[in-house]
Amino acid sequence: MTDIVAGVDLGGTNIKAGLVAPDGKIIERHELRTLAERGAQAVAARICQAVRECMQKAGLSASSVRGVGIGSPGTIDLENGVVLFSPNLPGWRNIPLRRMIEDDLCRPCLLDNDANVAALAEQWVGAGRGASSLVLFTLGTGIGGGIVLDGRIWHGATGVAGEVGHMSINPDGPACACGNRGCFEVYASATGMVRRMREAIRSGVRTSLSARGDEFTARDINEAALAGDEPARQNIEATGRYLGLGASNIMHIVNPEVVAFSGGVTAAGDMLMGPLRDEVQKRTLEASRQNVKVCFAELPNDAGIIGAARCFMLR
Ligand SMILES: [Zn+2]
Repeated sequence: MTDIVAGVDLGGTNIKAGLVAPDGKIIERHELRTLAERGAQAVAARICQAVRECMQKAGLSASSVRGVGIGSPGTIDLENGVVLFSPNLPGWRNIPLRRMIEDDLCRPCLLDNDANVAALAEQWVGAGRGASSLVLFTLGTGIGGGIVLDGRIWHGATGVAGEVGHMSINPDGPACACGNRGCFEVYASATGMVRRMREAIRSGVRTSLSARGDEFTARDINEAALAGDEPARQNIEATGRYLGLGASNIMHIVNPEVVAFSGGVTAAGDMLMGPLRDEVQKRTLEASRQNVKVCFAELPNDAGIIGAARCFMLR
């Protein structure tokens, strides 16, 4: 048996599998559509297919791979390797994914949350290389997160630590999908960016996006901003300030060595990071930010694969 571990990034759209060496390098990879609408059994079979394709490309037999780590969206029963619920995988309730994979591949398997494993990958070989603690904010439709302490994922009492998107930042703010009001992700997520932009347009602000009615995305805002649209730039800067506010709250509590951000909006670069860092500077105690690296994630496409494999290596 080798020290190679398979890592799987299970997404609502794609399954990304890779073989990961003990130094964090991806030796071989294979990607398949998830086809989640075909049901959990079919998805499990496709995960195994993707892993087998990797082994075949690398000229390895199943027995030469130590095991399989999987990062899955949603709420996970870590002890039993069960996906309890996942908004990205319609109809998934109490899916014993670990057992399904183990039965098919005849290799041990470990299951964890996708944002958690991404944070672990960043701490290991990404933005947090050389550091033992890192908090990752994953920016998308909502905001997820993962907390790594002493080189391991912090799961918390019931396995749901790192839900940074649902810290309350405004007691009377807009409703959040979670049932609360004024959650951080209502403001700083891609959804929040679009909502704030629509509000600005309705209040009479003129932007290149006005002509599109309500039909634009956070990516469109990003592109408009980079093309010189002033209201779009202001939207990105406000997003940066909200992210800095969220980061400050976390830094006071966790005091990690690294705070990293991943997701499409990071394409805005300094336009986002400048106001973000300014906000952190303004809002944190000096001791909370001293020598803390606030930065973009470095493994946008591979964090899921690498982190899932790392998770298995550490089990
Ligand atoms: Zn919420």
